[in-house]
Amino acid sequence: MNFIETRGNDGHRPVKVSFSEAILNPISSFGGIYSPESLPALGGEFLTSHLNSDYKSLARAVLSAFEIDIEPAVIDEALALYDAFDDATQPVPVVKVYDDLYVSELWHGPTRAFKDMALQPFGIVLSSLAQKRNEHYLILAATSGDTGPAALETFKNRANVQVACMYPDGGTSDVQRLQMVTEDADNVKVIGIKGDFDDAQSALKRLLGSDIFKAKLMEKKINLSAANSVNFGRIIFQIIYHIHSYLELVRQQAISMGDKVYLNVPSGNFGNALGGYYAMKMGLPVEKILIASNKNNILTQVIKTGSYDLRNKSVIPTTSPAMDILKSSNIERVLFDLFGAERTKELMQQLDENQHYQLNDNELMQLQSIFTADFCEDDEGKSYIKSAFSKGYLMDPHTATCFKTYDTCRDKKLTTIVYSTAEWTKFSPVIANALTGELDTHDIDALESIAREAGIEIPAIIKDLFNKPVTQNTVIDKQNIETEILNFI
Ligand SMILES: *Cc1c(COP(=O)(O)O)cnc(C)c1O
Repeated sequence: MNFIETRGNDGHRPVKVSFSEAILNPISSFGGIYSPESLPALGGEFLTSHLNSDYKSLARAVLSAFEIDIEPAVIDEALALYDAFDDATQPVPVVKVYDDLYVSELWHGPTRAFKDMALQPFGIVLSSLAQKRNEHYLILAATSGDTGPAALETFKNRANVQVACMYPDGGTSDVQRLQMVTEDADNVKVIGIKGDFDDAQSALKRLLGSDIFKAKLMEKKINLSAANSVNFGRIIFQIIYHIHSYLELVRQQAISMGDKVYLNVPSGNFGNALGGYYAMKMGLPVEKILIASNKNNILTQVIKTGSYDLRNKSVIPTTSPAMDILKSSNIERVLFDLFGAERTKELMQQLDENQHYQLNDNELMQLQSIFTADFCEDDEGKSYIKSAFSKGYLMDPHTATCFKTYDTCRDKKLTTIVYSTAEWTKFSPVIANALTGELDTHDIDALESIAREAGIEIPAIIKDLFNKPVTQNTVIDKQNIETEILNFI
């Protein structure tokens, strides 16, 4: 399978690239990204034949349908990382919370957030490609809090890769920050930035597009790549769990094979939702994809009105910081898939130049035939956390935003899969506040009080973070990022 460019071709780059090229060099002509040229059809027959497959067998089948240029042995090694999740036989448990609301828990990996679903196997794939080509890569990651720990966890001590990870200083939870700054492998560098996530992501995009920066790296024979969710090497692993969650509902007799469901996704950079979109296009019976946002509700706006408007907007800090995003990168792949490269280029150019684009009525109708959206205020999120807890389910503030879209966005009473993207341990002060009204400044106090309330233990991998030495204490202004990274390599 080949990958083509969302903004068309500039006459210099290849018109099509292989999967491995698309993941090693994720930025394409005119600042676009790579998308699959076509999608494999995995309809009813495929689903039925995998009704009793375990997660890894299903994953192998989906990946092989994409015909990617990665050796089966490498894919097996990559998928083996799911064995280290809480339950090797069930890395993604799907839990019934209400009669027609099931939660697909994507956070049972080493960093307790859903980024592990894709980054764990991606790390193996990328490192083995680099070794095979005898090349060295610098992987840049910009994080609002969960990508960073997951990228460091997957790339630390791996051959032929180094990682520089940028996070907004003060914009993450204690646990997220500790997961990064206590990482002591020689091949990783963690950089706090005085700014917000969009600043970190813009810096990343600027460096990825900078020929001067690349030339400086080349002097040291280092290539540049990115671990952000624009990388298709991550997206491909995010298609699998949507299919798995559907099959899990059939196995639990919540639905019959072929019944339509709603996928309900807490969205930021739109990687998770894009995986659902591809799964739907490949034949998964999905009625609609519900896009949940927080007060940074640019996705709600574009899906409701067709207007993507960044003018006079800045990121508002919320209790679901992994979704505090205004430039949602993966929407571009949906635009490309629906409207083609020429129109996507035009729209993205308008966004760059005018901070705004407007879809026409026909385009909006197409978008709304697939997606529907709403946003959840922090206080509403807290009441959803509290009411789910009273029914015996403990969830994090990102997951909670989906309970709003579940209430407001469904025209039909179909079974709904809510994607839970983080364990309660990663955003504990908000949860403790929702449950007891207490205000904790430190995660550790909140963790202890939630554990008490819920009668559970704080997982050891989280508790141990508070005793680990801090080895990464760089916090800098955004204009110094390039120098800092060059010093590191
Ligand atoms: C990254 C993240 C999201 C947003 O996912 P996207 O794929 O970027 O839309 C939501 N919740 C949590 C906890 C995350 O870490």
